[in-house]
Amino acid sequence: MTNDLSRRGVLEMGLGAALAAPALTVAGDAQAQPRDHDSVGVAVVGLGKLSQEQILPALKRTKGAHLAALVSGVPEKAKKWATEFGLSGSAIYDYRNFDTIAQDPAVQIVYIVLPNSMHADFTVRSFKAGKHVLCEKPMAVTLAECERMIRAGKAAKRQLMIAYRCQYDPFNVTAMQLMRKGVIGTPRLVNAVMGKQTDLADPSDAWRLDMAMSGGGALADMGVYGINGTRYLLNEEPTEVRGWARTDKSDPRFRTVEDMIAWQMRFPSGAIGDGSSCFSQPGTMTWQAIGTDRRLVADPGCFYGGNVMKIVGDKSYPQPQVKEIDQFGNEMNWFADVVRGRAPNVSPGEEGLQDMRIMHAIMQSVANGGTAVKTDFGYKRSYDPATVVGIRTAI
Ligand code: NAD
Repeated sequence: MTNDLSRRGVLEMGLGAALAAPALTVAGDAQAQPRDHDSVGVAVVGLGKLSQEQILPALKRTKGAHLAALVSGVPEKAKKWATEFGLSGSAIYDYRNFDTIAQDPAVQIVYIVLPNSMHADFTVRSFKAGKHVLCEKPMAVTLAECERMIRAGKAAKRQLMIAYRCQYDPFNVTAMQLMRKGVIGTPRLVNAVMGKQTDLADPSDAWRLDMAMSGGGALADMGVYGINGTRYLLNEEPTEVRGWARTDKSDPRFRTVEDMIAWQMRFPSGAIGDGSSCFSQPGTMTWQAIGTDRRLVADPGCFYGGNVMKIVGDKSYPQPQVKEIDQFGNEMNWFADVVRGRAPNVSPGEEGLQDMRIMHAIMQSVANGGTAVKTDFGYKRSYDPATVVGIRTAI
C-alpha cells in the first residue's frame, strides 16, 4: 500500500496547499513514462467508439497496464489494432473463441467495452478464464446480472471494477475534496444534467435506444453519471427517489426506451439530489452542488477533457484549477494497481449495483407516475475516492 499512501499524501497536500493559496492548483503530470517492470496485460473486448477513440490510444501511454489482446467480431478491425500495437495474430480473439483466453498468460485483465446487455456474460466468462475484470458502466442491464457478476468474481477470487472514470479523475476527486472540506457549507442540493443527441442510424446509438441492450436509454447511459456523481459529491446514499419521464412516443428513437427522465433523490443529511438524463439534447454533462455558503459549479463536469469548475458566491474565494490527465489511462493504471495489490478497489461491483438499484427504483417510480420508491439498500461504500484516490502522475 506504500504507493497508495504516497498518492493519498500528494492529494491531501495538494488540496491543503490549494485551499490556502490565492489560486488552487491540483495537478497531474501527463508525461509518458517507461512501462512498469510488472505492467499488467489487458485484453480489450469490443472495438467500438470508446475503445478505438479513447481506450486503445490511452493504452499506448499507460505505465501499469499494456495491451496484450484484442477481442472483436470484426477480424479486420482487430488486425489493424494488433499491427499498431505490434501484437501477433495469436493475441486476437473473437466472441466465440474468447474462453480460450484462459490459456493466455499475457492477459491478466479483461476490459469489457461492449453494449450493456453483454457485460454480464463476458464478465462471468472472464472470471471463469481466471482473469480480473474492468467493466464499463452501467454495470449491466438487470440487478440479477449484477449480482451474478459479483458472485462470479468472488468465486474466482478475482477483482471486478466498474469503470467509473470520474471517481479516479483529479477534476471530480478535487470536487469531492472541496465538498468534504465544507467549501460550500452544508450541502443542500446537487443538480446533475446529463444528455446528448442520438441518431438511430448510428450503430453506437442504435443499441443505446434499445431497452433490451441498454437497460434504460438515456438514464442507463448518461443518467448514471449524475446518480453516481451526486452520491460521491454528497458521500451518502439516497433513501428515497422519484422519477418522471417526458418522451415523444411518436419519435422512432423512443420505441422501447424513455427519452428524458428527471429524478429526485432524498438523502439522510437533508440534502436533495435532482437531475435529468435525455437523448434529445446537445451533449451535456454538468453538475452543481449548492450549499449554505457557496455553490460549486462544473460545466462541463464529466467530459473526457475540458471540464471547468467554479466556486460561486464568494468572489474572494480561490478558484480550483485542476490540470487535465488522460482519464482512461489513469483509470487503467489504478486498476492495474488494484490487481497488483497496491491500491484499493474504489468502484467494485457493489458500487455498480448500487447505481443500478437506484436507476431501477427511478424507473419504477416513472412507471407509477412519480410515486416515491424507497432506496435504503444498506449499501455503504468501502472507500471514499476523496481520501484514497490520488492524483496520478504517471500515465
Ligand atoms: P459502440 O457501439 O461504439 O461499441 C460497441 C462494440 O461492441 C462495437 O465494436 C460492436 O461491434 C460490438 N458489439 C458486439 N456485439 C454487438 C451487438 N450485438 N450489438 C452491438 N454492438 C456489438 O459502443 P461504445 O460507445 O464503445 O460503448 C461501449 C460500452 O462503453 C458501453 O457499456 C458504454 O456504456 C460504455 N461507455 C463508457 C464511457 C465512459 O466514459 N466510461 C463512454 C462511452 C461508452
